[in-house]
Amino acid sequence: MPSQKKEAADLIVTNGPILPAPSTSSIVPQGALAVVDGTIVALGPKAQIEELYEARKILDARGGLIMPGLVNGHNHAAMTCYRGIADDLPLMDWLNHYIFPAESKSDGEQVYWGTLLACAEMIRSGTTTFGDMYLFEDQVAEAASKAGMRALVGEVLYDFPSPNYGPIEKGLAYTETLIKRWQNDSLISIAVEPHALYTCSPPLLKRFRDLADRYGVPLIIHLAESKHEVEEVLKTYGKTPVRHMESLGLLSPNLIACHCVWLEEEEMDLLALRGVKVVHNPESNMKLASGVAPIPELLAKGVVVGLGTDGCASNNNLDLFREMDTCAKLHKVHRLDPTVMPSPVILEMATLGGAKVLGLEKEIGSLEVGKKADVIILDLDRPHLQPVYNVVSHLVYSAAGADVRDVIINGQIVMQDRRLLTLDEETILSKIRELREKILLRVAP
Ligand SMILES: [Zn+2]
Repeated sequence: MPSQKKEAADLIVTNGPILPAPSTSSIVPQGALAVVDGTIVALGPKAQIEELYEARKILDARGGLIMPGLVNGHNHAAMTCYRGIADDLPLMDWLNHYIFPAESKSDGEQVYWGTLLACAEMIRSGTTTFGDMYLFEDQVAEAASKAGMRALVGEVLYDFPSPNYGPIEKGLAYTETLIKRWQNDSLISIAVEPHALYTCSPPLLKRFRDLADRYGVPLIIHLAESKHEVEEVLKTYGKTPVRHMESLGLLSPNLIACHCVWLEEEEMDLLALRGVKVVHNPESNMKLASGVAPIPELLAKGVVVGLGTDGCASNNNLDLFREMDTCAKLHKVHRLDPTVMPSPVILEMATLGGAKVLGLEKEIGSLEVGKKADVIILDLDRPHLQPVYNVVSHLVYSAAGADVRDVIINGQIVMQDRRLLTLDEETILSKIRELREKILLRVAP
């Protein structure tokens, strides 16, 4: 019998259970998937896929769990440079005496290497996409692109001069240039990113909104993060942050609101009504003692919520597995109810929820034919991951980023057997140690 001609694929990932979406009912026990041009073209039982496809490259999962890459909805990637520089301080003390002095003399080179460090850490812990807000974002985009990571990035904008672009007029032009530069990129996209309501005046916010609308890109802001912010905004504008945003016409499905800790019931309804997307950053909110965001309530009202680490200086790591664990437990203890925020809900926030927040749900967030191959393989052959009764439970409560063994983004293998293929880790680490000396001088008393 002549063998039937097989379809050609660029990559086949095979030989492990596939969890395409956050429900255990979706598991393919012995699965495989085929990738062509960065896109998943087939997914199913191993025997079936291997019969239909042949590929130049086979990635053997060796029984590891094949699942969607994680989405870090809100990050300031380059802040890895400040990891552990100062902890356990009141917010304003921490900002004014450490973070702001360190940042005031930062430059594109520091941001580039800080972001590469973040990308190495994120890939190693299974994150394939991140949302970012910081300074010198052209360098963030370059670094993410070099790492082969998917990212939605944007320059932080506010009323006062920036160490990067100078006066705000240039900030708008800088953002516009970024949008045009990365318009047709397969991995990088750009957002317009006002910092917060207490750093951006109403006329400026409207201009940012208009710029985002003109190019059809998301608008990202820190919103209702702390009690202090609510008091400031109330004092200045006579309205709470969400109501202030509503009065400026800024609440829309295009808005990504990070934090949303301090919300009144009516404001939650308003966010749901306007289709605003929310990123929850539980570890940052806990470490800075900002409060507990009403995530169970927002989800119940139908708000789309993703999970983020926020910047590394207030976390102090970018491991979304740890973030998931913390997130689940925080809401349970806060409500004194162990049934809130069950593991599938948490995993959804870290995958498809994050993809929806960043406007990428048609491309990523789950493993489906037609979506991009952003795939991670988790080594289950580890003492802390056995036995397996419910793999989704393990992902939230037992796994750590270090259990991730292989990572594929847009069909490209960026980590294989825990070896980074797009980044030179040794060079990054030595560069970061050099930068540490310079940064220390800026914050020395
Ligand atoms: Zn932030």
